[in-house]
Amino acid sequence: MLRHPNEGYEWQQEASSSNHPHEQPQPLIVHKNFFSPARYYCVETICAPCGTVIAWAKFDKAESATNILNFLEMIYPTEESRPQYICVDKACLVLRTAISSGKWDSIWKNTTRFIVDTYHYTNHKATDILCRTYCNPAPTDGSAPNLVVLAQDKNGKSVLKRAFNTQVCEQLNAWLGGFETILKKMKPGNFNWFIHVMLFFHTQTVLAKQKAKKEKKENAAQNSDDEESDEEEAD
Ligand SMILES: [Zn+2]
Repeated sequence: MLRHPNEGYEWQQEASSSNHPHEQPQPLIVHKNFFSPARYYCVETICAPCGTVIAWAKFDKAESATNILNFLEMIYPTEESRPQYICVDKACLVLRTAISSGKWDSIWKNTTRFIVDTYHYTNHKATDILCRTYCNPAPTDGSAPNLVVLAQDKNGKSVLKRAFNTQVCEQLNAWLGGFETILKKMKPGNFNWFIHVMLFFHTQTVLAKQKAKKEKKENAAQNSDDEESDEEEAD
């Protein structure tokens, strides 16, 4: 359905109230509890570095560190299930909140480190010692060898490179943002269904691409094996 200017739905207070000219008395807001995703919710996702979506949630009003920690606890309830690294745009805030609430010691300390994704890290304060020391997505001092790999640049020189794509959530957000106009019109049930289906299909696509890539690699290896054995036979 196309969105027309000055067209409002009854559950969208802002849109309907803006239809009334200023000289007329402001209408009473009757449907106070109608849903308006743009105003009340933000969608949070958890992705694997390869791009598959692990979980998503709607947060009421704000993306607070407490909300993030509660979401993570729900998705990773046991020590065995917890990842070694969790990359969040506000990782330093999440870490601080975990420490002050006691959750760092009781839940996360043994298994997990919170790091900032590379996209947001440049905007974090260089003077924030906690952030620089514990939330650096790619420390070059050898303190997190799993996050940094040694690679060759185009001149054959050894360079340190990030081992994972820490921006998958950011990339997913950019894609989801394209549906914002449709999502803004939806009631909670439709909103949930739509997001879930889109993320499900997105993950299916990512998995299919990975499978195709793997098969291509295996076929290439198979072909080069065949060529080698052909050469051997010719000898
Ligand atoms: Zn920070």
